[in-house]
Amino acid sequence: MTETQHSPTYPAMDYRPASPANRLRDGRWQLLVAACFAFGAWAGYDVPLPVSVLGFLVMAFAVAFLPRRAGSRRLEAVKQRELRRMWPGTGMKVTVDALPAPCFVADGRGITRYINKAALKRYGDMKPGDPLSFSLRAPSLLEAFDRVCSSGEPERINWTEKVPTESWFEAHVSPVFMPGTASGRSGKGLPDFVLVVIQDQTEQRRLERMRTDFVANASHELRTPLASLSGFIETLQGPARDDPTARERFLAIMQEQAGRMRRLIDDILSLSRIELKAHVKPSAQVDLVEIIRHTRDALAPVAKEMGVTVETEVPDGEAIVNGDRDELIQVTENLIENALKYGGSGGRVTVALEDESQSGDDHKWALAIRDYGEGIPAEHLPRLTERFYRVNADSSRAMKGTGLGLAIVKHILNRHRARLEIESSPGNGATFRAHFPPIGTP
Ligand code: ADP
Repeated sequence: MTETQHSPTYPAMDYRPASPANRLRDGRWQLLVAACFAFGAWAGYDVPLPVSVLGFLVMAFAVAFLPRRAGSRRLEAVKQRELRRMWPGTGMKVTVDALPAPCFVADGRGITRYINKAALKRYGDMKPGDPLSFSLRAPSLLEAFDRVCSSGEPERINWTEKVPTESWFEAHVSPVFMPGTASGRSGKGLPDFVLVVIQDQTEQRRLERMRTDFVANASHELRTPLASLSGFIETLQGPARDDPTARERFLAIMQEQAGRMRRLIDDILSLSRIELKAHVKPSAQVDLVEIIRHTRDALAPVAKEMGVTVETEVPDGEAIVNGDRDELIQVTENLIENALKYGGSGGRVTVALEDESQSGDDHKWALAIRDYGEGIPAEHLPRLTERFYRVNADSSRAMKGTGLGLAIVKHILNRHRARLEIESSPGNGATFRAHFPPIGTP
């Protein structure tokens, strides 16, 4: 940021329009001289008082109402040029600086006159006096700028940039008419300046795309079991009507497909419920040791069926965190279930509570679920918590997965201000670790 930009070195501007009162004020010295003459004529040359007063009043009328001579108009033009040279004033600058979006004030030639803090942060070291096109390269924006300069009408435009990453922008290009100038008085004609306000809409677009992708994925996931169900219904009504063996087999498959639809709908509802309260931090305090024991016991039959041992490494006392018990049970259940399903080949799963606090601090607990299975290739790790993302779709479906388990885990942990960390490499199993903040954290 340049020093000159924000220092209040600009003199106070005179934005008064040329009203009779203002003209009288501007001509106060002429009026004073006229008053002296009138007084001298009355006192020294015996001119009658009413005549002297009338003479003064005629002078005052001339100053206030008579059209100005070309010289005064030239003076006004010089004054307006001067105003434009010094503008934007301090008031305008502090206002533009307070806006969170990048803003530029430029004159009709496209020369930047002011750059707010957000714009300096976003577009780097730019100075007043640099052409706007130094930092704003989007052709559609520069064309809109030219149109606003020649028409005086505001415009809103959108554009995308592909480099370095795909980004979406919206800009409002507005004419600025200065109060002291002719265009400012009429509020139309050619603008004295143009204000460009740029909004980065990338995050918003990304969220919109995520939402539409989610709906598309969810419909796709539901459509497959639905198609299978209606196919079997048709077969049972037609060719397999009188075949009890086929009927039994088909009904079993139909039940499985209905179960898949139910699990998917349950997970979608669960996700939307968590999203609804994403910004509300849980206020209750819960014991992670009790949650781990409860979940281990609940999943004992599954672990037994898969031939996997679940080991727990928890402290003797309690491990208290701010949290919602049901949601944290859901996190622990999803993570242990995944470890059993995808890492069961290692024969054991460890659930540990690690105290990450430095000595003297409040306890900072981390819940770590480790398996000793095949592990996950590195390229999949950053995307695992995306909705419907699976390393291997077939194995997920075979394991009755919906592809939403880790997305739910991530959302719940976000609400708890906790952070999920995933460590894994092929052949070395996987560790999913949830870092909880200490209970005193606001
Ligand atoms: P799913 O319902 O498919 O289990 P998740 O969101 O729970 O969905 O998991 C997403 C994907 O992450 C899974 O399909 C699986 O490929 C992978 N994954 C999750 N946990 C593990 C693990 N412990 N070991 C290996 N892969 C895992």
